[in-house]
Amino acid sequence: MSGSKFYVIKKSDFPKFIGSLSKNFKVFAPVRGEKDFNFKEVKPSKEIDLEGYINTEFPPKKFFIPDGEVLMEYEKGGKVKRKPAKGRKILFGVRPCDVHGLIVLDKVMMSEPVDVFYKNKRDSILVFALNCREAGENCFCESMGAKEAKEGFDLLFTDHGDEYHVEVGSEKGKEVIGKSRLFKETDKEAEKAKLVFKKKINTENLPEIMKDRFESKIWEETANKKCLSCASCTSVCPTCYCFDVFHLNSIEKPGSGKIIREWSYCMLKPFTKVAGEMIFREPRVERVKQFFYHKLVYGKENQGKYHCVGCGRCITECMTKIDITEEVRKIRDEYEKRKLRA
Ligand code: SF4
Ligand code: SF4
Repeated sequence: MSGSKFYVIKKSDFPKFIGSLSKNFKVFAPVRGEKDFNFKEVKPSKEIDLEGYINTEFPPKKFFIPDGEVLMEYEKGGKVKRKPAKGRKILFGVRPCDVHGLIVLDKVMMSEPVDVFYKNKRDSILVFALNCREAGENCFCESMGAKEAKEGFDLLFTDHGDEYHVEVGSEKGKEVIGKSRLFKETDKEAEKAKLVFKKKINTENLPEIMKDRFESKIWEETANKKCLSCASCTSVCPTCYCFDVFHLNSIEKPGSGKIIREWSYCMLKPFTKVAGEMIFREPRVERVKQFFYHKLVYGKENQGKYHCVGCGRCITECMTKIDITEEVRKIRDEYEKRKLRA
């Protein structure tokens, strides 16, 4: 097989391809549950049914920063074992917005000092992305520049009816294709579906506008009349990476134990609790603002990329229907009105 960038594989050959991968990798793909699709391990014998698949309920971040991950184990006497990443995995069906989510995580977790636990997983888990055929009710990735993936994946699949078009994105992806006889080279680019988005964010001067309206009453109304501080939004956000680390001492073997990393969220009051029972973001409005400003201002300023990729999950999961696109619209309207009056 030569160094082509584009290939096609017949859909009828796809289960065979997954079967061949299963010898060396655990393969995960979107599987329909009671409510939504989620990434689950798929068996080679079972076809992957993507009918009705828009995106997974939980983003792929759980594979790269697992909740409850044991980072280290220690024993009395000073012996410390760092837990290595377990086995090689493939994630098939990662949507382009979530590939952008991984690029955000890469920028945060792999800048100095590199988070080796994250990096190990990024090195051992292959991302097989899958272009969308239609946009979901709450998707607005186009506004955030995350509709298309140009990097951050190993292979990018596009549905072409009876076959998948495949774009190679890395050496590892190329190696996988090189070992299979099921792919044929093509010089044609993928035929992307025309996606229609019901939701949008106008990002023109957005960080400046957000900073100008930091003290807006809109944030207080959202926080005090609607937000429950449940943190559902942050738990499903593909770019939320905050965590807490704690020691779990063994009762059976005193002096031994584990160091565990657990997800934590800026929407929760204890998140900024420090010694002396001080809480830096005690008022709910401060926590709500932290979430929105992190997504739409701080990420863009610090990493050069919005930390919102427009996946719409926070809108879908919010019990009180707080909608990031609506919050931004209200803030922009207020900004424009004040400018007119000035
Ligand atoms: S999901 Fe909604 S209610 Fe819950 S913390 Fe987020 S914004 Fe507040
Ligand atoms: S802020 Fe909401 S829409 Fe944006 S990436 Fe996070 S979950 Fe998705």
